[in-house]
Amino acid sequence: MDLSLSSEEIETRDWVRNFVRREIMPLEPEALRRERAHQPGVTADEFKELRDKARRFGFWGIQTPEEYGGMNLSAVLAALIEVELGRSFVPFRFGGSADNILFHANDSQRQEYLLPTIEGERISCFAITEPGAGSDATAIRTTARKDGSDWIINGEKTFITGGNEADFTMVFAITDPDKGVNGGVTCFLADREMGWKSEYIDTMGEWGPAALVFDEVRVPERNILGELGQGFALAMQWIGRGRYLLPARAVGACERLMEMAMEHARNRVTFGEPIANRQAIQWMIADSAVEVEALRWLVLSAAWQVDQGMDSRHAQSMAKLFGGVKANEIVDRMLQIHGGMGYTRELPLERWYRELRLLRIYEGTDEIQRRTIARNLLKGYASVRGVLG
Ligand SMILES: Cc1cc2nc3c(=O)[nH]c(=O)nc-3n(C[C@H](O)[C@H](O)[C@H](O)COP(=O)(O)OP(=O)(O)OC[C@H]3O[C@@H](n4cnc5c(N)ncnc54)[C@H](O)[C@@H]3O)c2cc1C
Repeated sequence: MDLSLSSEEIETRDWVRNFVRREIMPLEPEALRRERAHQPGVTADEFKELRDKARRFGFWGIQTPEEYGGMNLSAVLAALIEVELGRSFVPFRFGGSADNILFHANDSQRQEYLLPTIEGERISCFAITEPGAGSDATAIRTTARKDGSDWIINGEKTFITGGNEADFTMVFAITDPDKGVNGGVTCFLADREMGWKSEYIDTMGEWGPAALVFDEVRVPERNILGELGQGFALAMQWIGRGRYLLPARAVGACERLMEMAMEHARNRVTFGEPIANRQAIQWMIADSAVEVEALRWLVLSAAWQVDQGMDSRHAQSMAKLFGGVKANEIVDRMLQIHGGMGYTRELPLERWYRELRLLRIYEGTDEIQRRTIARNLLKGYASVRGVLG
């Protein structure tokens, strides 16, 4: 068994590592200052400048197929990149990508939605969650009724990431109530100009998702993404598109938090000795190091299974669950090591604390991941012996 990285993987990872260190981390103090003033930490224009800079070095469309100008990197490499990006709380992403389900676009949708989204000229959002339908997405109530060659959408979506900035949404609505999720849900590409409204939702994190309101919004038939009635399968494809990337980002955050806490522990003296000499502090560091390492390999194992074309859903759920739970325990310990300073807004620990909390909720809560994992095992779809058998 060879667990080493190829030279291409090392080179790519190191380029991103340097980019994060040179271009992104220096933005952190100003980002914190702006966020404290209730402004975006980094503006859209500043992000664009960073993305364009990375593009000049070929970093564009990390997992986008080459025919669309992307790098089409492996899942393992994408996970390694995500770890590096996770080392900063500045929410930078390389440009050149689009939601996986947008690649189901037909020819005219490709010109109107997919290509401009890849180029960063248009912004999409994915809208399935509703006030009465979160973990149970089969409970959605938003409807679309046929009117000539249009569909009229009515309903409300909630917690939609990017919903305030997006100029179009991929919205899921019931087109056949008798069939429901078994052939009666359709995905529509709905432009903001078609009439939907968004409303900012204030959360404990620094990104505000949106509630989207559809009141008699008219969408032409040609804006159906994929097949009529086949939207639920598309939604599941979107949700499962790269679950391993979320805990990958948490690995980077935990590494950085640990480095900060170890530095603080070496320098902070109490009762005549650095706190790093105390067993209570050492145990927090040791437990966290073991858990970060375990998480790293859960993530890479899931990514490797994706690259092998295996059914990686079980592995991805395990990585997502462990990542959410452990990242939250680790940020809490690292904040504890910083004492009162950890609780201030002068340092980014409390910011990470608030942000990492989301990992246990979105794209499948802890409880839903546990449900999936247990069901896979109990039904015999997965083995307690793991992927090697
Ligand atoms: C910041 C943020 C961004 C988001 N972005 C998007 C987005 O872009 N697009 C989108 O469509 N959605 C988005 N979501 C929605 C997110 O996916 C849901 O919040 C999530 O799926 C949980 O649904 P819920 O909030 O309705 O909780 P509920 O489903 O009501 O769950 C409440 C609690 O009950 C537990 N629970 C539910 N069912 C079970 C069960 N069967 N067994 C045991 N426990 C259970 C849950 O784990 C949870 O602890 C976002 C959410 C947040 C907070």
